[in-house]
Amino acid sequence: SQPTKISLQLHPYGKKRKLMLTRDVTAVQLAETMRRDFVANVSHEIRTPLTVLSGFVETMQSLELSPEERHQYLGLMSQQAHRMQTLVNDLLTLSRLEGSPAPGQGEWVSTQELLDHVVQEGRGLTQAISAAAPHRIEPLDSPPFWISGAKSELISAMSNLMSNAVRYTPGGGLIEPGWRLRDDGCAEFFVRDQGPGIAAEHLPRLTERFYRVDRSRSRETGGTGLGLAIVKHVAQRHGGRLEVSSELGRGSSFNLVLPPTRVREAEPG
Ligand code: ADP
Repeated sequence: SQPTKISLQLHPYGKKRKLMLTRDVTAVQLAETMRRDFVANVSHEIRTPLTVLSGFVETMQSLELSPEERHQYLGLMSQQAHRMQTLVNDLLTLSRLEGSPAPGQGEWVSTQELLDHVVQEGRGLTQAISAAAPHRIEPLDSPPFWISGAKSELISAMSNLMSNAVRYTPGGGLIEPGWRLRDDGCAEFFVRDQGPGIAAEHLPRLTERFYRVDRSRSRETGGTGLGLAIVKHVAQRHGGRLEVSSELGRGSSFNLVLPPTRVREAEPG
């Protein structure tokens, strides 16, 4: 959050000079509004699954259910519990990223290792949510290089981008993840998809906590609305940024860009 600006001004009043203290409260007010919005959002996100969950509990207490019905209800209840778990995990990840110092140099990791990891995750996810028509996840085959940073954070950011591509692209669609070195020396992890694309007016707000373009699609596929906020934080903590390009009806490309200082082309000794 922005620091409060305190400005001291010396004003001449007649012969005497008085010290006036003016405090710029707008930054404080803005931070307070954001905090309140955040708490309201979190409460709402937790209340929804809780309401559904307690509804099922009451139904099960008051009705004689067949074993099939019991099974079905318990499945739905477990889904809601899982949803709350995911939300709490994402909240903790975000608060850890916001509250701890940036990772510094960290360790050197091969882009091949990182890529293999998220490709495997993506394939697992598409089998789980789209078994009838799994996505084709085709990683870009390029020479590996090494990047430095907090490995777990980088994996978490890459996983979020991969999972979004799988969750928003219709089954069977093509998803192309990969690492590449850009002409400006930056490293870039990209995920291109053939999903619905995102209208330009939404792009600047995507990394806001709980901002969703399509609320019901996000919910259906277990979204928390925090994924891209996590990616943005990880990028910034590594001196980088998140770039998004998208065309409505054609697909999107999410790019995690890291500065040249974090890149080695040869294996660091
Ligand atoms: P969520 O958990 O809702 O997916 P995110 O922060 O990861 O939250 O993403 C924010 C919103 O951005 C999503 O709700 C969705 O509307 C949009 N979005 C993210 N990735 C994609 C994508 N690959 N294709 C289309 N829309 C996307």
